Amino acid sequence: MVVTATLSPPLPAVERPWAPKLRDTPMLWEIARAVGGGPFHVIHPATFAENLGSLLDALAAEHTPGTVYYGKKANKAAAWLRECTRPGAGVDVASVPELVHALGNGVRGEAIGVTGAAKSDGLLWLALRHHCLLAVDAADELERVSSLARDLGETAEVLLRVRPPTAPASRFGFAPDVLTAAVRRCADPGTAVALRGFSFHLDGYDPIPRAELAAHLIALCRDARALGHPASKISIGGGIAVSYVDSEDWRRFEADRHDGWFHGGRNPVRTYPYHQEPTGAAMVTAILRHDVGGAPLSHRLRDAGIELLLEPGRALVDGAGFSAFPVLGRKASGDHLVTTVAGLSMSLSEQWKGSEFLPDPILVPADRAPADDTPVRTAVVGSSCLEYDVLTWRAVQLPRCPGVGDLIVYPNTAGYQMDKNESGFHQLPLPPKVVVDRDRWHVDTDYPIQEIR
Ligand SMILES: *Cc1c(COP(=O)(O)O)cnc(C)c1O
Repeated sequence: MVVTATLSPPLPAVERPWAPKLRDTPMLWEIARAVGGGPFHVIHPATFAENLGSLLDALAAEHTPGTVYYGKKANKAAAWLRECTRPGAGVDVASVPELVHALGNGVRGEAIGVTGAAKSDGLLWLALRHHCLLAVDAADELERVSSLARDLGETAEVLLRVRPPTAPASRFGFAPDVLTAAVRRCADPGTAVALRGFSFHLDGYDPIPRAELAAHLIALCRDARALGHPASKISIGGGIAVSYVDSEDWRRFEADRHDGWFHGGRNPVRTYPYHQEPTGAAMVTAILRHDVGGAPLSHRLRDAGIELLLEPGRALVDGAGFSAFPVLGRKASGDHLVTTVAGLSMSLSEQWKGSEFLPDPILVPADRAPADDTPVRTAVVGSSCLEYDVLTWRAVQLPRCPGVGDLIVYPNTAGYQMDKNESGFHQLPLPPKVVVDRDRWHVDTDYPIQEIR
Protein backbone atom coordinates (compact mmCIF):
# COMPACT_ATOMS: atom_id res chain seq x y z
CA MET A 1 0.00 0.00 0.00
CA VAL A 2 1.26 3.46 -0.87
CA VAL A 3 1.11 5.87 2.03
CA THR A 4 -0.25 9.14 0.67
CA ALA A 5 -1.43 10.62 3.95
CA THR A 6 1.68 12.76 4.36
CA LEU A 7 -0.14 16.09 4.18
CA SER A 8 -0.50 17.43 7.70
CA PRO A 9 -3.80 19.25 8.33
CA PRO A 10 -3.37 22.98 8.87
CA LEU A 11 -2.91 24.40 12.37
CA PRO A 12 -3.64 28.11 11.85
CA ALA A 13 -2.75 30.19 14.89
CA VAL A 14 -5.47 32.04 16.75
CA GLU A 15 -4.17 35.61 16.70
CA ARG A 16 -5.21 38.99 18.07
CA PRO A 17 -6.28 41.43 15.32
CA TRP A 18 -3.20 43.71 15.65
CA ALA A 19 -0.82 41.03 14.34
CA PRO A 20 -2.31 40.16 10.92
CA LYS A 21 -3.19 43.84 10.50
CA LEU A 22 0.44 44.89 11.01
CA ARG A 23 1.70 42.20 8.61
CA ASP A 24 -0.53 43.71 5.95
CA THR A 25 0.97 47.20 6.22
CA PRO A 26 4.18 48.76 4.90
CA MET A 27 5.22 49.27 8.55
CA LEU A 28 6.31 45.61 8.76
CA TRP A 29 8.78 46.20 5.90
CA GLU A 30 9.85 49.55 7.32
CA ILE A 31 10.74 47.71 10.55
CA ALA A 32 12.52 44.94 8.63
CA ARG A 33 14.65 47.44 6.71
CA ALA A 34 15.46 49.44 9.84
CA VAL A 35 16.74 46.38 11.73
CA GLY A 36 18.83 45.16 8.81
CA GLY A 37 16.40 42.65 7.35
CA GLY A 38 15.89 40.32 10.27
CA PRO A 39 15.33 38.06 12.04
CA PHE A 40 13.38 40.25 14.45
CA HIS A 41 10.58 39.96 16.97
CA VAL A 42 7.56 42.23 17.19
CA ILE A 43 5.90 42.77 20.55
CA HIS A 44 2.67 44.51 21.47
CA PRO A 45 2.40 45.77 25.07
CA ALA A 46 -1.24 46.82 24.55
CA THR A 47 -2.16 43.13 24.29
CA PHE A 48 -0.21 42.40 27.48
CA ALA A 49 -2.20 45.20 29.18
CA GLU A 50 -5.43 43.64 27.89
CA ASN A 51 -4.46 40.19 29.23
CA LEU A 52 -3.47 41.68 32.58
CA GLY A 53 -6.74 43.60 32.75
CA SER A 54 -8.79 40.50 32.07
CA LEU A 55 -7.05 38.52 34.84
CA LEU A 56 -7.61 41.40 37.30
CA ASP A 57 -11.25 41.60 36.16
CA ALA A 58 -11.65 37.85 36.79
CA LEU A 59 -10.46 38.33 40.38
CA ALA A 60 -12.74 41.35 40.87
CA ALA A 61 -15.76 39.53 39.43
CA GLU A 62 -15.43 36.90 42.18
CA HIS A 63 -14.81 39.62 44.81
CA THR A 64 -11.35 38.24 45.44
CA PRO A 65 -8.61 40.64 46.48
CA GLY A 66 -5.49 39.71 44.58
CA THR A 67 -2.29 40.68 42.79
CA VAL A 68 -1.05 39.48 39.41
CA TYR A 69 2.75 39.18 39.24
CA TYR A 70 4.16 38.80 35.72
CA GLY A 71 6.40 35.69 35.64
CA LYS A 72 9.25 37.53 33.97
CA LYS A 73 11.14 34.53 32.59
CA ALA A 74 8.49 34.07 29.87
CA ASN A 75 9.94 37.02 27.89
CA LYS A 76 12.82 39.39 28.63
CA ALA A 77 11.47 42.59 27.03
CA ALA A 78 11.35 45.76 29.11
CA ALA A 79 8.10 46.92 27.53
CA TRP A 80 5.98 44.50 29.60
CA LEU A 81 7.41 45.81 32.85
CA ARG A 82 5.95 49.26 32.43
CA GLU A 83 2.50 47.66 32.14
CA CYS A 84 3.15 46.03 35.52
CA THR A 85 3.32 49.38 37.33
CA ARG A 86 -0.49 49.62 37.46
CA PRO A 87 -2.43 48.86 40.67
CA GLY A 88 -2.96 45.15 41.30
CA ALA A 89 0.06 44.18 39.21
CA GLY A 90 3.65 43.26 39.96
CA VAL A 91 6.55 41.20 38.66
CA ASP A 92 7.85 37.76 39.67
CA VAL A 93 11.65 37.51 39.39
CA ALA A 94 14.29 34.87 40.13
CA SER A 95 17.66 36.60 39.62
CA VAL A 96 19.48 39.87 40.30
CA PRO A 97 19.31 41.04 36.66
CA GLU A 98 15.56 40.35 36.56
CA LEU A 99 15.05 42.24 39.81
CA VAL A 100 17.18 45.19 38.64
CA HIS A 101 15.31 45.25 35.33
CA ALA A 102 11.94 45.43 37.08
CA LEU A 103 13.11 48.12 39.53
CA GLY A 104 14.70 50.11 36.70
CA ASN A 105 11.42 50.15 34.84
CA GLY A 106 9.52 51.62 37.76
CA VAL A 107 8.13 48.53 39.44
CA ARG A 108 8.39 49.17 43.18
CA GLY A 109 9.99 46.59 45.44
CA GLU A 110 6.72 45.95 47.29
CA ALA A 111 5.21 44.86 43.98
CA ILE A 112 7.99 42.38 43.22
CA GLY A 113 7.91 38.73 44.23
CA VAL A 114 11.20 36.83 44.33
CA THR A 115 10.80 33.12 43.63
CA GLY A 116 13.27 30.54 42.39
CA ALA A 117 15.15 28.02 44.50
CA ALA A 118 18.40 28.72 46.41
CA LYS A 119 18.56 32.48 45.94
CA SER A 120 22.03 34.01 46.18
CA ASP A 121 22.90 36.31 49.09
CA GLY A 122 23.21 39.13 46.56
CA LEU A 123 19.65 38.58 45.36
CA LEU A 124 18.32 38.32 48.91
CA TRP A 125 20.18 41.48 49.97
CA LEU A 126 18.80 43.54 47.10
CA ALA A 127 15.31 42.12 47.58
CA LEU A 128 15.40 42.93 51.30
CA ARG A 129 16.58 46.49 50.61
CA HIS A 130 13.57 46.95 48.34
CA HIS A 131 11.03 45.17 50.57
CA CYS A 132 10.20 42.53 47.99
CA LEU A 133 8.07 39.51 48.86
CA LEU A 134 10.38 36.50 49.17
CA ALA A 135 9.11 32.99 48.42
CA VAL A 136 11.48 30.99 50.62
CA ASP A 137 12.20 27.51 49.29
CA ALA A 138 14.16 25.70 52.02
CA ALA A 139 15.11 25.79 55.71
CA ASP A 140 18.71 26.90 55.08
CA GLU A 141 17.48 29.72 52.85
CA LEU A 142 15.14 30.85 55.64
CA GLU A 143 18.15 31.12 57.97
CA ARG A 144 20.09 33.20 55.41
CA VAL A 145 17.08 35.48 54.86
CA SER A 146 16.66 35.98 58.58
CA SER A 147 20.30 36.74 59.25
CA LEU A 148 20.67 39.10 56.27
CA ALA A 149 17.49 40.92 57.30
CA ARG A 150 18.77 41.26 60.85
CA ASP A 151 22.09 42.70 59.61
CA LEU A 152 20.18 45.21 57.49
CA GLY A 153 17.80 46.16 60.29
CA GLU A 154 14.92 45.02 58.09
CA THR A 155 12.07 42.56 58.48
CA ALA A 156 11.86 40.10 55.63
CA GLU A 157 8.44 39.72 53.98
CA VAL A 158 8.21 35.98 53.46
CA LEU A 159 6.02 33.31 51.90
CA LEU A 160 7.01 29.68 52.46
CA ARG A 161 6.88 27.63 49.26
CA VAL A 162 5.03 24.37 49.72
CA ARG A 163 6.06 21.18 47.91
CA PRO A 164 2.88 19.94 46.20
CA PRO A 165 1.68 16.62 47.70
CA THR A 166 1.09 15.52 44.07
CA ALA A 167 4.81 16.07 43.31
CA PRO A 168 6.69 14.55 46.28
CA ALA A 169 9.86 14.27 44.18
CA SER A 170 9.86 17.96 43.19
CA ARG A 171 13.06 19.76 44.06
CA PHE A 172 11.08 22.89 44.95
CA GLY A 173 9.45 23.84 48.22
CA PHE A 174 9.18 22.53 51.77
CA ALA A 175 8.01 18.96 52.42
CA PRO A 176 5.20 18.86 55.06
CA ASP A 177 7.30 17.99 58.14
CA VAL A 178 10.01 20.57 57.34
CA LEU A 179 7.30 23.15 56.66
CA THR A 180 5.87 22.78 60.16
CA ALA A 181 9.33 23.33 61.62
CA ALA A 182 9.89 26.38 59.39
CA VAL A 183 6.59 27.97 60.46
CA ARG A 184 7.63 27.48 64.09
CA ARG A 185 11.09 28.84 63.35
CA CYS A 186 9.61 32.06 61.94
CA ALA A 187 7.97 32.64 65.34
CA ASP A 188 11.27 32.43 67.26
CA PRO A 189 12.24 35.73 68.81
CA GLY A 190 15.19 37.18 66.92
CA THR A 191 14.19 35.89 63.46
CA ALA A 192 13.73 39.04 61.40
CA VAL A 193 10.93 37.49 59.38
CA ALA A 194 7.26 38.36 58.86
CA LEU A 195 5.52 35.21 57.63
CA ARG A 196 2.94 36.62 55.18
CA GLY A 197 1.69 33.28 53.90
CA PHE A 198 2.44 30.36 51.59
CA SER A 199 3.00 29.64 47.92
CA PHE A 200 3.20 26.88 45.34
CA HIS A 201 3.80 26.50 41.61
CA LEU A 202 2.32 23.47 39.83
CA ASP A 203 3.17 21.80 36.55
CA GLY A 204 0.33 21.33 34.09
CA TYR A 205 -2.64 23.59 33.36
CA ASP A 206 -5.51 22.09 35.34
CA PRO A 207 -7.50 24.52 37.51
CA ILE A 208 -8.72 21.85 39.98
CA PRO A 209 -5.43 20.85 41.67
CA ARG A 210 -4.65 24.56 41.99
CA ALA A 211 -7.96 25.25 43.76
CA GLU A 212 -7.47 22.24 46.03
CA LEU A 213 -3.92 23.11 47.00
CA ALA A 214 -5.01 26.74 47.51
CA ALA A 215 -7.58 25.52 50.04
CA HIS A 216 -4.80 23.68 51.86
CA LEU A 217 -2.74 26.88 51.92
CA ILE A 218 -5.67 28.74 53.49
CA ALA A 219 -5.63 26.13 56.28
CA LEU A 220 -1.87 26.64 56.67
CA CYS A 221 -2.47 30.41 57.02
CA ARG A 222 -5.04 29.77 59.78
CA ASP A 223 -2.59 27.53 61.66
CA ALA A 224 0.19 30.10 61.22
CA ARG A 225 -2.06 32.87 62.55
CA ALA A 226 -2.68 30.76 65.66
CA LEU A 227 1.08 31.02 66.25
CA GLY A 228 0.88 34.80 65.86
CA HIS A 229 2.03 35.12 62.24
CA PRO A 230 0.49 37.82 59.97
CA ALA A 231 -0.34 35.19 57.32
CA SER A 232 -2.82 36.70 54.86
CA LYS A 233 -1.51 35.87 51.36
CA ILE A 234 -1.33 32.74 49.26
CA SER A 235 0.34 32.47 45.87
CA ILE A 236 -0.84 29.81 43.42
CA GLY A 237 2.07 30.36 41.03
CA GLY A 238 1.78 30.40 37.24
CA GLY A 239 0.62 27.90 34.65
CA ILE A 240 -2.46 29.80 33.52
CA ALA A 241 -3.29 27.99 30.27
CA VAL A 242 -3.07 29.38 26.73
CA SER A 243 -4.64 28.12 23.49
CA TYR A 244 -2.70 28.67 20.28
CA VAL A 245 -5.07 26.97 17.83
CA ASP A 246 -8.80 26.12 17.56
CA SER A 247 -10.18 23.01 19.22
CA GLU A 248 -11.30 21.33 15.98
CA ASP A 249 -7.93 21.91 14.25
CA TRP A 250 -6.08 20.53 17.25
CA ARG A 251 -8.39 17.52 17.62
CA ARG A 252 -7.90 16.58 13.96
CA PHE A 253 -4.17 17.06 14.17
CA GLU A 254 -3.82 14.93 17.28
CA ALA A 255 -6.15 12.22 15.96
CA ASP A 256 -4.27 11.72 12.68
CA ARG A 257 -0.73 12.60 13.74
CA HIS A 258 1.69 10.82 11.47
CA ASP A 259 5.51 10.52 11.21
CA GLY A 260 5.21 11.15 7.45
CA TRP A 261 4.13 14.73 8.16
CA PHE A 262 7.59 15.56 9.48
CA HIS A 263 10.94 16.07 7.77
CA GLY A 264 13.07 13.01 8.55
CA GLY A 265 10.01 11.42 10.18
CA ARG A 266 10.78 13.45 13.29
CA ASN A 267 7.37 13.49 14.94
CA PRO A 268 7.84 15.04 18.40
CA VAL A 269 6.92 12.75 21.29
CA ARG A 270 5.59 15.52 23.51
CA THR A 271 4.26 18.98 22.69
CA TYR A 272 2.54 21.79 24.53
CA PRO A 273 -1.27 21.27 24.52
CA TYR A 274 -1.82 23.86 21.76
CA HIS A 275 -5.52 23.85 22.42
CA GLN A 276 -6.95 23.58 25.92
CA GLU A 277 -9.79 24.89 28.05
CA PRO A 278 -10.30 26.89 30.16
CA THR A 279 -7.56 29.43 29.42
CA GLY A 280 -6.52 32.85 30.71
CA ALA A 281 -9.13 34.72 32.75
CA ALA A 282 -11.63 31.83 32.35
CA MET A 283 -9.15 29.53 34.07
CA VAL A 284 -8.78 31.98 36.96
CA THR A 285 -12.58 32.05 37.24
CA ALA A 286 -12.67 28.23 37.22
CA ILE A 287 -10.10 28.11 40.04
CA LEU A 288 -12.04 30.65 42.11
CA ARG A 289 -15.40 28.92 41.57
CA HIS A 290 -14.13 25.41 42.26
CA ASP A 291 -15.89 23.86 45.23
CA VAL A 292 -13.47 23.15 48.05
CA GLY A 293 -15.22 21.43 50.97
CA GLY A 294 -18.68 22.84 50.27
CA ALA A 295 -17.90 26.40 49.13
CA PRO A 296 -16.17 28.04 46.17
CA LEU A 297 -12.51 28.87 46.74
CA SER A 298 -13.33 32.60 46.41
CA HIS A 299 -15.65 32.34 49.46
CA ARG A 300 -13.01 30.50 51.44
CA LEU A 301 -10.48 33.22 50.65
CA ARG A 302 -12.87 35.97 51.62
CA ASP A 303 -13.98 34.27 54.84
CA ALA A 304 -10.35 33.85 55.86
CA GLY A 305 -9.39 37.40 54.80
CA ILE A 306 -6.72 36.12 52.44
CA GLU A 307 -5.34 37.77 49.31
CA LEU A 308 -4.72 35.59 46.23
CA LEU A 309 -1.46 36.08 44.34
CA LEU A 310 -0.95 34.79 40.78
CA GLU A 311 2.35 34.50 38.88
CA PRO A 312 1.38 33.96 35.23
CA GLY A 313 4.07 34.30 32.58
CA ARG A 314 2.87 32.76 29.33
CA ALA A 315 -0.77 33.83 29.79
CA LEU A 316 0.13 37.53 30.09
CA VAL A 317 2.10 37.59 26.84
CA ASP A 318 -0.43 35.45 24.96
CA GLY A 319 -1.09 37.03 21.57
CA ALA A 320 1.40 39.82 22.31
CA GLY A 321 4.21 39.02 19.87
CA PHE A 322 5.42 37.29 16.73
CA SER A 323 8.80 36.45 15.19
CA ALA A 324 9.87 37.17 11.61
CA PHE A 325 12.65 35.40 9.70
CA PRO A 326 13.78 36.41 6.17
CA VAL A 327 13.98 33.60 3.64
CA LEU A 328 17.51 32.87 2.38
CA GLY A 329 16.80 29.96 0.05
CA ARG A 330 15.21 26.56 -0.43
CA LYS A 331 15.88 23.15 -1.86
CA ALA A 332 13.93 19.96 -2.57
CA SER A 333 13.99 17.11 -0.06
CA GLY A 334 11.88 14.12 -1.12
CA ASP A 335 8.22 15.10 -1.30
CA HIS A 336 8.70 18.53 0.27
CA LEU A 337 11.01 21.55 0.35
CA VAL A 338 13.47 22.66 2.97
CA THR A 339 13.43 26.44 3.36
CA THR A 340 16.39 28.16 5.04
CA VAL A 341 15.79 31.39 6.94
CA ALA A 342 18.17 33.93 8.43
CA GLY A 343 18.13 33.25 12.13
CA LEU A 344 18.29 30.24 14.43
CA SER A 345 15.91 27.80 16.01
CA MET A 346 17.15 29.19 19.36
CA SER A 347 14.51 31.87 18.71
CA LEU A 348 11.82 29.16 18.97
CA SER A 349 12.65 27.53 22.27
CA GLU A 350 10.22 24.62 21.90
CA GLN A 351 12.59 23.12 19.32
CA TRP A 352 15.21 22.80 22.06
CA LYS A 353 13.32 20.29 24.16
CA GLY A 354 12.89 17.74 21.41
CA SER A 355 9.45 19.23 20.84
CA GLU A 356 8.03 21.56 18.20
CA PHE A 357 6.23 24.91 18.11
CA LEU A 358 3.28 23.70 16.06
CA PRO A 359 1.12 26.70 15.04
CA ASP A 360 1.52 27.19 11.27
CA PRO A 361 4.18 29.68 10.19
CA ILE A 362 2.91 32.39 7.84
CA LEU A 363 4.54 33.43 4.57
CA VAL A 364 4.63 37.21 4.06
CA PRO A 365 5.78 37.78 0.47
CA ALA A 366 8.04 40.74 -0.24
CA ASP A 367 6.23 41.13 -3.55
CA ARG A 368 2.66 42.01 -2.68
CA ALA A 369 1.29 40.67 -5.96
CA PRO A 370 3.18 37.39 -6.40
CA ALA A 371 2.98 35.87 -9.89
CA ASP A 372 3.07 32.22 -8.90
CA ASP A 373 0.60 30.89 -6.38
CA THR A 374 1.08 27.14 -6.37
CA PRO A 375 1.03 25.84 -2.78
CA VAL A 376 4.14 24.02 -1.54
CA ARG A 377 5.02 21.98 1.52
CA THR A 378 8.17 22.83 3.38
CA ALA A 379 10.21 22.31 6.53
CA VAL A 380 11.94 25.47 7.84
CA VAL A 381 15.56 25.44 8.96
CA GLY A 382 17.92 27.95 10.54
CA SER A 383 21.06 29.42 9.01
CA SER A 384 23.59 27.61 11.22
CA CYS A 385 25.88 24.65 10.58
CA LEU A 386 23.85 22.33 12.81
CA GLU A 387 21.81 19.54 11.23
CA TYR A 388 19.28 19.88 14.07
CA ASP A 389 18.87 23.68 13.80
CA VAL A 390 15.31 23.31 12.56
CA LEU A 391 12.46 25.78 13.20
CA THR A 392 9.77 23.48 11.79
CA TRP A 393 10.28 19.76 11.18
CA ARG A 394 6.69 19.41 10.00
CA ALA A 395 6.27 19.91 6.26
CA VAL A 396 3.83 22.80 6.46
CA GLN A 397 1.84 24.06 3.54
CA LEU A 398 2.55 27.58 2.27
CA PRO A 399 0.34 29.27 -0.34
CA ARG A 400 3.29 29.59 -2.72
CA CYS A 401 7.00 28.87 -2.93
CA PRO A 402 8.90 31.11 -0.48
CA GLY A 403 11.23 33.51 -2.31
CA VAL A 404 14.46 35.10 -1.13
CA GLY A 405 13.56 38.20 0.88
CA ASP A 406 10.08 37.00 1.85
CA LEU A 407 9.43 36.77 5.57
CA ILE A 408 8.38 33.64 7.41
CA VAL A 409 6.47 34.69 10.50
CA TYR A 410 5.89 32.52 13.56
CA PRO A 411 2.73 33.71 15.29
CA ASN A 412 2.21 34.12 19.05
CA THR A 413 5.81 33.53 20.11
CA ALA A 414 6.08 36.00 23.02
CA GLY A 415 5.53 33.32 25.68
CA TYR A 416 8.85 31.47 26.13
CA GLN A 417 9.41 30.90 22.39
CA MET A 418 11.11 34.08 21.29
CA ASP A 419 14.00 34.65 23.64
CA LYS A 420 14.27 31.93 26.28
CA ASN A 421 17.04 30.02 24.49
CA GLU A 422 18.55 32.68 22.25
CA SER A 423 22.34 32.80 22.20
CA GLY A 424 25.05 34.48 20.19
CA PHE A 425 25.78 31.25 18.30
CA HIS A 426 27.99 31.83 15.21
CA GLN A 427 28.56 35.27 16.76
CA LEU A 428 25.23 36.33 15.32
CA PRO A 429 23.55 39.22 17.16
CA LEU A 430 20.37 38.45 19.10
CA PRO A 431 17.27 39.37 17.09
CA PRO A 432 15.97 42.78 18.21
CA LYS A 433 12.53 43.16 19.75
CA VAL A 434 10.46 45.86 18.13
CA VAL A 435 7.71 47.40 20.25
CA VAL A 436 4.61 48.32 18.30
CA ASP A 437 2.23 50.92 19.69
CA ARG A 438 -0.58 51.67 17.21
CA ASP A 439 1.11 53.34 14.19
CA ARG A 440 4.46 53.86 15.93
CA TRP A 441 7.32 51.54 16.71
CA HIS A 442 10.69 51.52 18.49
CA VAL A 443 13.27 48.95 19.47
CA ASP A 444 12.72 47.66 23.02
CA THR A 445 15.11 49.38 25.43
CA ASP A 446 16.15 48.10 28.83
CA TYR A 447 15.19 51.22 30.76
CA PRO A 448 12.61 53.97 30.16
CA ILE A 449 14.60 56.30 27.94
CA GLN A 450 11.62 56.56 25.58
CA GLU A 451 9.07 59.24 26.28
CA ILE A 452 6.81 58.33 29.21
CA ARG A 453 3.12 58.39 28.50
C1 LIG B 1 7.85 29.65 35.64
C2 LIG B 1 7.16 30.10 36.86
C3 LIG B 1 6.02 30.89 36.75
C4 LIG B 1 5.38 31.25 35.41
O1 LIG B 1 4.84 30.11 34.77
P1 LIG B 1 3.90 30.25 33.47
O2 LIG B 1 3.66 28.83 33.07
O3 LIG B 1 4.63 31.01 32.44
O4 LIG B 1 2.65 30.92 33.88
C5 LIG B 1 5.45 31.37 37.91
N1 LIG B 1 5.95 31.06 39.13
C6 LIG B 1 7.04 30.27 39.28
C7 LIG B 1 7.54 29.97 40.65
C8 LIG B 1 7.69 29.77 38.15
O5 LIG B 1 8.77 28.99 38.29
